[in-house]
Amino acid sequence: MHTGLFHEIDFEKDQKWSGHLGIPFSIDRSPYYQLKIPIFRIKNGAGPKLLLMAGNHGDEYEGELSLARLVRRLDPKRIKGRVTILPMANAPAVMAAKRCSPLDGGNLNRAFPGDPSGTPTSRLAHFLETELFARHDVVFDIHSGGTSMEHLPTALVERNTDPERHKRGVELMRALGMPYGFIADNGPASPTSMGAARRAGSIGISGEFGGGGTTTPESMAFTTRAIDSLMMTLGITTAPLLGEHAAPEGPTELLSLARHSQGIFATRRGWWEPAVELGARVTAGDLAGWCHNLDRLTEVEERLHFAEGGVVISCRLHTIPAIGSA
Ligand SMILES: [Zn+2]
Repeated sequence: MHTGLFHEIDFEKDQKWSGHLGIPFSIDRSPYYQLKIPIFRIKNGAGPKLLLMAGNHGDEYEGELSLARLVRRLDPKRIKGRVTILPMANAPAVMAAKRCSPLDGGNLNRAFPGDPSGTPTSRLAHFLETELFARHDVVFDIHSGGTSMEHLPTALVERNTDPERHKRGVELMRALGMPYGFIADNGPASPTSMGAARRAGSIGISGEFGGGGTTTPESMAFTTRAIDSLMMTLGITTAPLLGEHAAPEGPTELLSLARHSQGIFATRRGWWEPAVELGARVTAGDLAGWCHNLDRLTEVEERLHFAEGGVVISCRLHTIPAIGSA
């Protein structure tokens, strides 16, 4: 009664179903409290099996709002196969407008493979990896920069040592229609949803669709187009459900993010002033920005430079970084 995760999902019935994942977690105000995470299933016969999730990080709204709209619009008669939707996977984080859960500090996308007798976030991760992801061909986990970061619209996939599955993952990543994409090398023990999906025998894809703890018409257009494109590529739908989308401006440009030297990390407290815009193309040695010291107004600001060339894919939004912040 006091561990694990429970649900009443009927995985075989053709229907549109809504319910919750329940996680018992005793708290001050409710000794028998159960964390309730909304989940939706739409099934119509045999066919592709897709899991869509957002709110893995609570303050990333592009996917949360798009999937909530999709839940309202999906009709079993208009699909082939099955779609499972978690619009707010880490529900306490979503409700608190935070990246991590206020219940246990859990960062779901660093919690896989989880633990069935651990914290609520850890139990959720364990259920997703060992039970839910394994029932789907593809897991699409929608992210963005959240409150602390702005991010170029970028699709993501992790490297898979199985060449056929890796090829399919890259194909599906490209099918999202994003301007940029990259293949991450997070290793076999990756704590992300993509790593969990891979270990479960599914194909995990993801992406960063905006940021700043808000949405824009542009970030929502990228998000809704990616969801519709994926469902149509898999053969679940034959027409877009979330809007009429403009065609991508070109094929996805593949980038590489594999070394810590591609980022700039604070080594002391300061006040950050960027010298470049998101999306800028830079070369090694270019000025990235200045770190001011408002505790010592006479101290000359420190100049920080890029160690490597490339495209600026994300920028910090909070001016005051803690030591270690990117
Ligand atoms: Zn995220």
